[in-house]
Amino acid sequence: MTVLSLFLYLKRKLEVIVQISSLLTLFETFSFLFLKKWLQATDLTREVYHHLAHYVPRIYCRGPNPFPQKEDMLAQHILLGPMEWYLCGEDPAFGFPKLEQANKPSHLCGRVFKVGEPTYSCRDCAVDPTCVLCMECFLGSIHRDHRYRMTTSGGGGFCDCGDTEAWKEGPYCQKHELNTSEIEEEEDPLMHLSEDVIARTYNIFAIMFRYAVEILTWEKENELPADLEPVEKSDTYYCMLFNDEVHTYEQVIYTLQKAVNCTQKEAIGFATTVDRDGRRSVRYGDFQYCEQAKSVIVRNTSRQTKPLKVQVMHSSLVAHQNFGLKLLSWLGSIIGYSDGLRRILCQVGLQEGLDGENSSLVDRLMLSDSKLWKGARSVYHQLFMSSLLMDLKYKKLFAVRFAKNYQQLQRDFMDDDHERAVSVTALSVQLFTAPTLARMLITEENLMTIIIKTFMDHLRHRDGQGRFQFERYTALQAFKFRRVQSLILDLKYVLVSRPAVWSDELRHKFLEGFDAFLELLKCMQGMDPITRQVGQHIEMEPEWEAAFTLQMKLTHVISMMQDWCASDEKVLIEAYKKCLGVLTQCHGGFTDGEQPVMLSICGHSVETIRYCVSQEKVSIHLPVSRLLAGLHVLLSRSEVAYKFPELLPLSELSPPMLIEHPLRCLVLCAQVHAGMWRRNGFSLVNQIYYYHNVKCRREMFDKDIMMLQTGVSMMDPNHFLMIMLSRFELYQIFSTPDYGKRFSSEITHKDVVQQNNTLIEEMLYLVIMLVGERFSPGVGQVNATDEIKREIIHQLSIKPMAHSELVKSLPEDENKETGMENVIEAVAHFKKPGLTGRGMYELKPECAKEFNLYFYHFSRAEQSKAEEAQRKLRRQNREDTALPPPVSPPFCPLFASLVNILQSDVMLCIMGTILQWAVEHNGYAWSESMLQRVLHLIGMALQEEKQHLENALEEHVVTFTFTQKISKPGEAPSNSPSILAMLETLQNAPYLEVHKDMIRWILKTFNAVKKIRESSSTSPVAETEGTIMEESSRDKDKAERKRKAEIARLRREKIMAQMSEMQRHFIDENRELFQQTLELDGSSSAVLDSSPVVSGTTFTALGPAQTQVPEHRQFVTCILCQEEQEVKVESKAMVLAAFVQRSTVLSKNRSKFIQDPEKYDPLFMHPDLSCGTHTGSCGHIMHAHCWQRFFDSVQTKEQRRQQRLRLHTSYDVENGEFLCPLCECLSNTVIPLLLPPRNVFSRLNFSDQPNLTQWIKTISQQIKALQSLRKEENASTTASSKNSENLGEVKLPEGFRPDFHPQNPYSESIKEMLTTFGTATYKVGLKVHPNEEDPRVPIMCWGSCAYTIQSIERILSDEDKPLFGPLPCRLDDCLRSLTRFAAAHWTVASLPVVQRHFCKLFASLVPNDNYDDVPCILDIDMFHLLVSLVLAFPALQCQDFSGISLGTGDLHIFHLVTMAHIVQILLTSCTEDNSMDQENLTGEEEVATLALYKILHQYTGSALKETPSGWHLWRSIRAGTTPFLKCSALFFHYLSGVPAPSDVQVSGASHFEHLCNYLSLPNNLICLFQENSEIINSLMKSWCRNSEVKRYLEGERDAISYPRESNKLIDLPEDYSSLINQASSFSCPKSGGDKSRAPTLCLVCGALLCSQSYCCQTELEGEDVGACTAHTYSCGSGAGIFLRVRECQVLFLAGKTKGCFYSPPYLDDYGETDQGLRRGNPLHLCKDRFKKIQKLWHQHSITEEIGHAQEANQTLVGIDWQHL
Ligand SMILES: [Zn+2]
Ligand SMILES: [Zn+2]
Ligand SMILES: [Zn+2]
Ligand SMILES: [Zn+2]
Ligand SMILES: [Zn+2]
Ligand SMILES: [Zn+2]
Ligand SMILES: [Zn+2]
Repeated sequence: MTVLSLFLYLKRKLEVIVQISSLLTLFETFSFLFLKKWLQATDLTREVYHHLAHYVPRIYCRGPNPFPQKEDMLAQHILLGPMEWYLCGEDPAFGFPKLEQANKPSHLCGRVFKVGEPTYSCRDCAVDPTCVLCMECFLGSIHRDHRYRMTTSGGGGFCDCGDTEAWKEGPYCQKHELNTSEIEEEEDPLMHLSEDVIARTYNIFAIMFRYAVEILTWEKENELPADLEPVEKSDTYYCMLFNDEVHTYEQVIYTLQKAVNCTQKEAIGFATTVDRDGRRSVRYGDFQYCEQAKSVIVRNTSRQTKPLKVQVMHSSLVAHQNFGLKLLSWLGSIIGYSDGLRRILCQVGLQEGLDGENSSLVDRLMLSDSKLWKGARSVYHQLFMSSLLMDLKYKKLFAVRFAKNYQQLQRDFMDDDHERAVSVTALSVQLFTAPTLARMLITEENLMTIIIKTFMDHLRHRDGQGRFQFERYTALQAFKFRRVQSLILDLKYVLVSRPAVWSDELRHKFLEGFDAFLELLKCMQGMDPITRQVGQHIEMEPEWEAAFTLQMKLTHVISMMQDWCASDEKVLIEAYKKCLGVLTQCHGGFTDGEQPVMLSICGHSVETIRYCVSQEKVSIHLPVSRLLAGLHVLLSRSEVAYKFPELLPLSELSPPMLIEHPLRCLVLCAQVHAGMWRRNGFSLVNQIYYYHNVKCRREMFDKDIMMLQTGVSMMDPNHFLMIMLSRFELYQIFSTPDYGKRFSSEITHKDVVQQNNTLIEEMLYLVIMLVGERFSPGVGQVNATDEIKREIIHQLSIKPMAHSELVKSLPEDENKETGMENVIEAVAHFKKPGLTGRGMYELKPECAKEFNLYFYHFSRAEQSKAEEAQRKLRRQNREDTALPPPVSPPFCPLFASLVNILQSDVMLCIMGTILQWAVEHNGYAWSESMLQRVLHLIGMALQEEKQHLENALEEHVVTFTFTQKISKPGEAPSNSPSILAMLETLQNAPYLEVHKDMIRWILKTFNAVKKIRESSSTSPVAETEGTIMEESSRDKDKAERKRKAEIARLRREKIMAQMSEMQRHFIDENRELFQQTLELDGSSSAVLDSSPVVSGTTFTALGPAQTQVPEHRQFVTCILCQEEQEVKVESKAMVLAAFVQRSTVLSKNRSKFIQDPEKYDPLFMHPDLSCGTHTGSCGHIMHAHCWQRFFDSVQTKEQRRQQRLRLHTSYDVENGEFLCPLCECLSNTVIPLLLPPRNVFSRLNFSDQPNLTQWIKTISQQIKALQSLRKEENASTTASSKNSENLGEVKLPEGFRPDFHPQNPYSESIKEMLTTFGTATYKVGLKVHPNEEDPRVPIMCWGSCAYTIQSIERILSDEDKPLFGPLPCRLDDCLRSLTRFAAAHWTVASLPVVQRHFCKLFASLVPNDNYDDVPCILDIDMFHLLVSLVLAFPALQCQDFSGISLGTGDLHIFHLVTMAHIVQILLTSCTEDNSMDQENLTGEEEVATLALYKILHQYTGSALKETPSGWHLWRSIRAGTTPFLKCSALFFHYLSGVPAPSDVQVSGASHFEHLCNYLSLPNNLICLFQENSEIINSLMKSWCRNSEVKRYLEGERDAISYPRESNKLIDLPEDYSSLINQASSFSCPKSGGDKSRAPTLCLVCGALLCSQSYCCQTELEGEDVGACTAHTYSCGSGAGIFLRVRECQVLFLAGKTKGCFYSPPYLDDYGETDQGLRRGNPLHLCKDRFKKIQKLWHQHSITEEIGHAQEANQTLVGIDWQHL
C-alpha cells in the first residue's frame, strides 16, 4: 500500500478522530527521520523509550472498547515502522526480502498448532508419541504409508518435522528435506548477516525485548516505570477483570450485569474475552467510576469463594502492556525473516542481566509466568517456541535455564489456578523429550533427582512411618495433588528414550535419580494399610483413589526405570542392590519381637512369624518389592545370570522376607473373594479390582506373582507351601489328618466351610499360577512376542473381539502400543463388518490348544465365560471336553527349581487330601472347583515330566518323578490309597460327570509318560493298562449319547437365540420384517394387494377404460383390544398410528422457510418443494376409541410422572405425541382407515360424457356461477340493496344446484377422525395452533398426501426399485390411508371453502379474471396441483346434476395438468445444442414434439430458444414427466383401488408405456395436445403471456427444471483428517476469528457451524438455542443431520428437545468407528454406512430414530439438545 492510498484509506476510516489524523501526516517522513535520529543517538534506549512514552498512550486505549484494527495499523506505522527502518538501515520493504534471501532456512518445520488442527504421529517411527507432524509435513513424508495415529491438537506444541531426534526414520518431509545435503549443525547463522545489521539488531532487540518484559511484569496499577511516565497524566482508568478457574461463566455474566450495568449480551462478550484472553476491561472512566465497579464485582463474587480478580489500572499502563504484547508478536514475526535475527534474539533473551543469576529476560518472564494473564502468557510462550526452541544451540541453553528454575516454576504452578496448558511448565514436553537434551540435563543439571524431589516436596502429608497419607485431604490439597501429577509426566518425558550408550557420568546421575525414586516408592510401600472389619460395617469408605492414582500414573515410569536399568548391566546390578537395600529398610524388624511359629507337615518343618492377614494390617501398595521383582527378572535375562551367577547379589536375599508381603496381598485378595472382608465396603473391592486391572496389574499383581516365583525358586518348596498354608489360614486343615472327616461330623458353621473351601480353591489357583505363568521374558524362556500372543489367545478364547476391545484388554506401554499388530495375524482371523457392527477377530482353531483355563489375567467372569466357550467349541468339533493344561515353555535357569513344587511332599499331601475328600464324598467339605484345580495341577505335573523326559540328554537323570510319586500309596499310619488309585476311583463316580473327560485325559497322559520313562530307563512300573482301556470303551457309548443330546440342545438353543435376536432387531432395524410377520398373523390391513395379480392383464386406473374392481371386504384387528372389525363407511372408525412432520428433504431451496405461518398461503406448492408436510406410519391399527382411551391414559400418566420425577420422555405428550403401543414408534396423530372414497360417491359412468373442451367450458360456467353467488352473498351480508339487481342475473348452468348440500355418508366416529387427522396435519405442517375451521386445513391434507407420495416415489427411483414392487407394508398402508383420507376430508370441511380452493386452483390453468394472484405455471408443482384439484373436485361435482361423472372430472383434470406439466418442461428444458440430431426426425413423437415446441416458440413471442432437436426435446419430456406420471399412478392406484399393472411391479428399464396405459394416456403424450388443440392452444397462449414466463425466458429469473434431481447429503472426503483440517481453519462467525470449539458440519447443506458454545447462541421462539438447533429450523424445518467434526460423531436433532448421536460413516482399518476420536487410527469413509444415513433422511426416519435411541437409552433424554 502506498503512503498516499494508505492516507486516503485512513482518512476515510478515521475522519472522526481528528487528533489521530494529525499524526498521520507524519507518516511519510516519520520513519526515515527516526532512522537518522536513532542512528546518531548516544543513548538509544532513552530515545526509544521517549518515543514510546509519547506515542503508545496516544495510540492504544483511547476509550472503553478496543479498536484493534486501528490500533494495530497505527502501531505498525508509528511505533514498529521506525524500528524496522532502524534494523534494516533502509526501507524494510527492501531490507527484509534481502535478509530472507540471504537466509539458510532451518530444516525444522516448527509450525505451531492451532486448536483443533490435526496432528499425526507415526507409530512405527516416532521416538515417542509426543513427536507429531502437521498435516502438510505428514502428507509429504514417508510416514503416510506407515501405521500412523491422528489426533486433534489442543493448541500449543509444534510440528517436529526436521528434528532428527524425534524420528527413527524419515525425519524430513519432502519440503523440509530440500537443504539437508548441506547440513552443518554448527554453522553460525550470523555468518549471513552484515556486521552493521548485527549490531543494530542487537541494539533494537535488546531495548524492545527489555521494554516488553518490563512492562508486562510491571505490578503497580497506577504507576509506570520512570522513563515511561507521561508528562501529564489524565484521569482515565480501566476496571480490568481477570480470568480465574473458580467462577463459572454464569456467575461472571451475572455479576457483570450488576456491576457495570451492561446488557446480558455485552456481559457474555466480556466473559468470553476474559475466558479467552485472561483479562478484559469492563469499564473505562475516571478512577472513582472504575473503583466503584470493582467493589461491586468483588463484593458479589466473594461470598462462596475467593473473589474475582479485578484491578483498576491507569489507561497508559494498559496501553503500554497492549503494545508490549504486540511487540512480542512482532519480534516473533521479524525473526521469521532470518535465522540470524533469531539467533540474536535468543542471545538477547538469555543474556544475564545486571542482577546476576536468573536475571536474563527469559528468566524474568518464566519466573513471573504465574502472575501474568492468559493472553500475555500465550504470546510469550509462542515467542519462545518460535525462537529459543527453533535454534538448537539456544534450545540447550534455554533447557538449562528451565531446569535450573524448575523447582520455582513448579512451585508457582502449584499456587496458580490456571490450567497447565497455559503455564510455562508445559514447555517441558518440548525440552525433555529430546533425547540428547534430556541426557544432558540429567548429567549436568541432575534433572531426574530434581523432578522427583520437587514432586516429593509437594506431597507433605505422611503417616508415622513416613508413608504418604491422602486420607485427610482438603479440597485444596486434592486440587494440588492433581496438579502435582504433571511432574510425573515430566519424569516420563525425561525417561522416554533409553540411552544406547552410557557414560560414567550418566550412570552416576541416573543412579542418583534412582535413589530419589526409591525414596518416593518407599513412601508408597505399605501406604493405605487396611484392617479387616469384624462385627460392624465400616462407617465411612476410606479414601483410596489418591493412592491408586499415584500408582497408576507411576506405572509407566516404573516400567521405564526398569528398561533403563536393563540397558546396562552395571546399572542393573547397582540398582538391584539399592532396591534390595531399601526393601530391607522397609521391612526392617519384621521378625522382631514375636516368637516364631514352627510349622510341620510330612516330616518337613519350617519356622515362620506369627501373622494373620485377617487380623492385622495389610497393604496393597508394595512398589519397592515389585520393583525388585522386576529387576530380578531382568537380572535373570542378563548374560551374567547365565555365565557368572555368583556375581549377582543373590546371597543377600532372604526368600521368606521377599515373599512375605506379596503373599499377604494375594491372601487378602483370596479372603475378599471368600467374603471375609465384606464389612470393609466398596473401597476395598475397588482396590482389588484395580490391582488386577490391565491398567495397573503390570506393576502390581504380575510383579507379586513374580516375586513369589523368585522366592520359591530360592527355597525349599515344602517350606514355601507350609508358609503359604499358614498365611491362607489353612495350615490346620492340611496338617491334621482326617480333618475332612472331622469337618463333616462336627457341627461347623456352614459359612466357615464355604469360606475355607474358597480359600483352598484360591490357594490351589495360586500354585497353578506360580508354576504355570512363565510367559514373562526372564521367568520363562520366551520373548515379548510370545507373551503378547498368549494374552491375545486368551482374550479371544472368551469371544471374538473387535480391535479396540482387544487393545483395551491388553497392557499398553508408554508409547501406547500393545504390540498386538505384529502377532495378531498369527493367532486370529479378521472378519469384516457389515452395515452395522464392527470388524471382529476370531481365534484360529489351531491356537485353541494353547488355552489355559487358569490364565492369570482372567477375571472370574472371564474365566467362566472362556471355559464355557471352549467346552462348547470342543463339543462342536466332537472332541472330548477336557481342558488340560497347555504345554509350558521351560523356565530360565534362575527359576528352574520352581517346578519341584509340583512334586514336593506337601503338595502331594494337599492333592491327596483333596482327592480323598472327593472319593469319600461325604459332606460338604470339598468343592468341584477344588477338585478341578487339583486335576489341573496333576495335569501340569504330567506335562512337565513328559517335557523333561523328551528333552533330557542321554546321561541326565530326570529328577522330576511325579508319576512315580503318585503311584505310591500313603505310608502308615494313614495308609491312604495312592493318588493314581483315587483318580481311577473317581473316574466312575456318578457325581463327577463333568470332570470325567479330564480324569481320562490324565490317566492317558500318565500312561504315555510311563511309556517314555520305560523306554528310557528300565525301572518297571506295575500298573494294569487293561482296566483303563476297558473303562474308556464303556464310556464311549455313554459319551456318544451325551453328544447327541448335546447337539439337540445346541440346535434348540440356536433357534431360541435366533428368535430373540429377531425380536431385538425389530425395533432397531427391521421394522419391515416385523411388519411382515404380523401380516402372517392376519392382523394387517393389506387386503387389496393380497389378491393375486394376474400377469399380463392390463389395468387402467381412470378414464372410460377404468378396470372395475370387485368390492373386497376388509377385516382388521385392533392391536389394543384384539377385536376384529370390518372397515365400512358406517361403522366405528379404525385408525393407524401416524407421524406428521414438516420436511425439507425434497427441497430445492433451503433458504426458503415459512416466515409467518399465520399469513402463509399453502394453496400452490412451488416446484422447489421447499416446505412440505410428510406423513408416516408404522402401520398399526387400532379402534379410534381404543386409541383415544390409550392416549388419555398416557397423558395423565405423563402429567403425574412429570410432577413427580421432573423427567423428560422421548415424546412430547403436550404436543399430541405418543409411542405406538405395539412397536413404540413415535407418532403424533392417527389416520382413519377408509374404503376407496370414489366408490362411495360412485358415479363412474362414462357414456355421454363431455370431452375436455366441453368439460372445461362447463366447469368454467359453474365456477362463474359460484363466484357471482358468492359476490351476492357478500353483498347481501353487507346489506347493500344496490347490488340486488344482480340477484336474478346469475344464470345457473343446466343441472347445477349450488344450494344442494350432500349427505355425509360416514359414521360420526369416522368424521371425528377425519377432523382429528386434518387438524393435526394443519397444526404440524404450519406450526400453528389447531383450528379445525381454518380454510387451510383441507389444503394441508392434500399437500401432505402429494408430498408423501412424491417422497416415496423419489426413494423408489433412487434405489432403482419398481414403482409397484413389494412396497413395505407400513408404507403401503400409510399411502393408502393417507390418500383415501385426503380424498374424504372435504366431507367434513366447509363446502364453499373447498369450492373456493378448487376455483382458484383451476384458475391457475384456465384463466379467470377474478383471480389475479395465481402463480404462473413455472411456479406451480404440477403433482400437488393435480392432487388438490382431483380431491377438491367432488365439492363442485356434488352439486352438478347434469350427468358429468366424477370419473370424467378426474380424467380431464389429469390430462389438463399433464399437458401443463409438458409445457412447463418444454419452457424450462435446458436447450443444449444437439443440432446434429436434427436431421434424424424418425419417430412421430419427435415430429409432434417439435411442432408443439414451435407453437410455444410462437406464443412466447420467439423468446423461447429456437428449434433444438426434436429427439432431445422428446427425451426431456419423457424424463421430465416420468416422476410426475409415477406419482400420479401411485395416487390413482390408492384412490381408486385399481391393482397395479404387473409390469410395473418388477424393476427394470423404463415402464413409460405401461404407466401411460395405466393412467389412460396416449403413449405419445403430444397426442393429448393434438386431440384437444381447440382449447389447449388458447390455454397455452395465456400461460405463455404471463409476465413471469417472459422474465424467465429473458433470463431475468430462475425456474426449476425437470426432472428434479434427488437431494443427496453432501459429499464427504474419503480421509477423515481432511475434514478435521477443514474444520480447524473454521472460526466462529460471531467472535471475530476465534477458533470454534465444536465445529459441526450440516450433512444436508454443508454449512459449518460453531456448535455448543455461548458465542453462537441465538434466540428462537423466545429461547436461547445453539447454532445447530437454530440451523435445523431453516435447513431442515426442525430436523437436522450433523457431523461433529472433532468428535467424529453424527448428531440427529429434531425440534428443540430431541436428539441422539448416531454412529459415524467413518471406519478405521479394523472396521470400527471412533466416536470421540480417542484411538486416533486413520479413518476412512464407509460409503454404505453413509448411504444408510442418507436413506434414513430420505425416509423421514430421523425423528423416529431419535425416538428409538432415546427409549433405549434414557440418559439421552436428559441432554440439552437445544444448546448444541
Ligand atoms: Zn510441519
Ligand atoms: Zn516438514
Ligand atoms: Zn513412519
Ligand atoms: Zn380396539
Ligand atoms: Zn406401530
Ligand atoms: Zn444445513
Ligand atoms: Zn461461535
